[in-house]
Amino acid sequence: MGTEVHRSRVLVLGSGVAGLYFALQAAERGTVTILTKSLPEASNTSWAQGGISAVFADDDTLQSHMDDTLRVGAGLCHADMVERAVRLAPGIVEQLAKQYGVKFDRLGAEEDAPFVLGREGGHSHRRVVHHHDTTGAELVRALLDAAKRHPNITVLADHMVVDLLSWSKVDGTRGCFGAYSLDVKTGVVDAFVAHTTVLATGGAGKVYRYTSNPDVATADGIAMAYRLGAQVGNLEFMQFHPTCLFHPEAKSFLVSEAVRGEGGILRRKDGTPLMDDKHPMGSLAPRDVVAREIDAELKRSGESCVLLDVTHLDPEFIPKRFPGIFSRCLELGIDMRTQPLPVVPAAHYMCGGVKVDPWGRTTVPGLIAIGEVALSGMHGACRLASNSLLEAVVLADAAAQIEMEFGREPPAHASDWDEGDAVQSDEAVMVTANWEEVRALMWNFVGIVRSNKRLERARRRIELIREEIREYYVRFRVTRDLLELRNISLVGHLIVECARRRLESRGLHYNLDYPAIDPAFARDTVLDKREGLIT
Ligand SMILES: Cc1cc2nc3c(=O)[nH]c(=O)nc-3n(C[C@H](O)[C@H](O)[C@H](O)COP(=O)(O)OP(=O)(O)OC[C@H]3O[C@@H](n4cnc5c(N)ncnc54)[C@H](O)[C@@H]3O)c2cc1C
Repeated sequence: MGTEVHRSRVLVLGSGVAGLYFALQAAERGTVTILTKSLPEASNTSWAQGGISAVFADDDTLQSHMDDTLRVGAGLCHADMVERAVRLAPGIVEQLAKQYGVKFDRLGAEEDAPFVLGREGGHSHRRVVHHHDTTGAELVRALLDAAKRHPNITVLADHMVVDLLSWSKVDGTRGCFGAYSLDVKTGVVDAFVAHTTVLATGGAGKVYRYTSNPDVATADGIAMAYRLGAQVGNLEFMQFHPTCLFHPEAKSFLVSEAVRGEGGILRRKDGTPLMDDKHPMGSLAPRDVVAREIDAELKRSGESCVLLDVTHLDPEFIPKRFPGIFSRCLELGIDMRTQPLPVVPAAHYMCGGVKVDPWGRTTVPGLIAIGEVALSGMHGACRLASNSLLEAVVLADAAAQIEMEFGREPPAHASDWDEGDAVQSDEAVMVTANWEEVRALMWNFVGIVRSNKRLERARRRIELIREEIREYYVRFRVTRDLLELRNISLVGHLIVECARRRLESRGLHYNLDYPAIDPAFARDTVLDKREGLIT
């Protein structure tokens, strides 16, 4: 039996804030199918705690939000993208509240009472609009609800996209017209074809051993786009969040930056403040600075964590302002009103991605990329806290305005999914072992602090592992685990290559052999498969 082909006008890959927001705009003009590899709620978006940055305070200005973003971005932000996002931010927040019913915290009970504004690292003003400390889950609730009710939108859960469909196989031209997708429940691969394909597959945290990201964040979109021939870049800029809870049962639990924003102090294990003499903003210094200082402290002291202390704050304020963090910590036996929290850094946000213009267009016709998977120029060499939900919505909105002109009518047929002689694997251990090896080597050699020697070691190892995975991929039937392993190992390889090309230290990329910033590298690192270096 041939591969089944499904058609819609737009195909959206991913159900985080970027995919959902885009789908709701595009559905006004035609049918939209959203493929998502797990439950629709499983996304980085659902885990976002802090909020969305936007200028609302009387003493704040758009210029100040732009200046903070550009300063933290360390010379690599694209000023036009930053300017647009900052200017549109207040309107977007209002629209999310009014049109989709997102419940942001307000200073009064009235519907239009002013927003409560949080403060986070790197921001010079209070400008983070939030819903308690569970902003992302509230966003997903509201947008998913609207998407499910929309007659033109179909959401298919447990559909893991395997690869993108290329026009080159149909008529020799460059372009994308959909994707192959594995139904995780049945093991069947179908083709989904569309006029426009939108990558909204989110982040890459699972490339690293320690991460704040949920299990779905396996860099699939970057890997698929690169395999199709789209340019990707700036992958050396992985943001490590300084404060994930250090507890054996707290898998990937983030302690929001807002905790430091409200006065939390980072301390060494002996109780002395860690950041006082390290940066003028102390514990509220930008994330890259804080993560590096914690990394250095752990290496120096041999301890396994540092402490985040809020015991000096009003004990009634803590559970009110941070109900999610407070209750999770309490479940784990830590009362943050009286005990400092043990914390460590972990891979958190991918600033690089699939290269796009300010409308989300990749370098491949018909393929759009929005949200964390995209490299739009908003974040430069380091993301300012709470600018990513904002960027995702701004880009999704822009892409929805131009997608009609960018795509083209898909062909009548798609080639059958070719399984070759693949059989069911009887050696799943090979997949598990390589998962662990890739993530460990990325953590150890391509982590917060890098060096030429570490990067070279990582390159050699990852090439060998990828060779093994390629052989396995041809011999055995695809499963979600195997597909994800193939993607994290390719993207790990691409991260190593980007890091090897940046012979300086800037923003999130720190190389002991080039500890200073070098103006010659004030540009994006761009990788293209057609160079033939990494296949
Ligand atoms: C713990 C945590 C806290 C954060 N806090 C904040 C914050 O306060 N403010 C802020 O601005 N940002 C925050 N961020 C970052 C922000 O949440 C993300 O950058 C943003 O939500 C990304 O949205 P997205 O739609 O691009 O991707 P995601 O929300 O990650 O959605 C990606 C979707 O794609 C699906 N997918 C992936 N691969 C495939 C595939 N092969 N096939 C099918 N589906 C696939 C996933 O299942 C998921 O549905 C935080 C991130 C984390 C992890």
